[in-house]
Amino acid sequence: MTDRFDKVLGAYLGLAIGDALGATVEFMRPREIALQYGVHRDIVGGGWLKLPRGQVTDDTTMCLALGEALLQGGPQALQGHALGDDALVHAIGQAFVRWFQAKPVDIGNTCRRGILRYLHERSLSGPYNAGDGGNGALMRNLPVVLATLGDDAAFERLSIAQARLTHHHPLSDAATLGFGHLVRRLIDGASHVDSLLWIDRWIEQNPAFKFAPYRGHATAYVVDTVHTVLHFYTLHRDFEAALIATVNQGDDADTTGALIGMLAGARCGAAALPRRWLQRLQPQTVMAITDQCSGLLALSRGPAEVPHG
Ligand code: MG
Ligand code: MG
Repeated sequence: MTDRFDKVLGAYLGLAIGDALGATVEFMRPREIALQYGVHRDIVGGGWLKLPRGQVTDDTTMCLALGEALLQGGPQALQGHALGDDALVHAIGQAFVRWFQAKPVDIGNTCRRGILRYLHERSLSGPYNAGDGGNGALMRNLPVVLATLGDDAAFERLSIAQARLTHHHPLSDAATLGFGHLVRRLIDGASHVDSLLWIDRWIEQNPAFKFAPYRGHATAYVVDTVHTVLHFYTLHRDFEAALIATVNQGDDADTTGALIGMLAGARCGAAALPRRWLQRLQPQTVMAITDQCSGLLALSRGPAEVPHG
């Protein structure tokens, strides 16, 4: 496995691990979690969704739906999008509709509203909405990050396009781009310290996301989500420690778990993911993610893919 593929796979499997781990304690308060679990540290299912052990939720399955649309479109669709053709964004909208019609275990309100709007009106974006500041567009953007490695302009254009299918809010846009840029740097081999410096600069440009001092809010409001994830990312270099600390903050724990898993997984790579968690994920999820990582990496124009000479 190349270093680059290891980081790509680490990000995507890390996201699924965080989702499955966090789902058990979603919507709980830290004190309730402490009473019931002491420290919640195992993938055991349950939670308000009564999940079987190892099952992921919308955070991972929306990523898979988005990734599938990118892979089906292939390089021509990506190129067409760059030239102003909306076909790829429609393909993503249709993939979200199919995902929705297959009755996923959970779905956020803003995602539901956006997907229904697309289904009935075929419009690629709703108007700006003050209520669209949830984390739903941010949580599912990883496949775009991976399909456009090496091409920042394509990454930004397509990230915003997929986000606007359901969320039209400047803080959702900013978080989606910021986390994407951070993952890209980690995949390119940025060290932990490099990533901290990058986060500092990004916070200077996006002061709404200033997470210190941490207020302890881990809701689905994208500002709370970013505060929580960056707080624990900067605090813990170790994948397992970062995830456990994050999900024990409760509230939108599957999504904060998925996002910390994505960042910390890109930082450490798939080979360093804890076996006990990886083995608990449902095998079909691990297989689908592994397949998508190969396909999306092949779509991207990263340095390894650009011919020299
Ligand atoms: Mg979820
Ligand atoms: Mg959630």
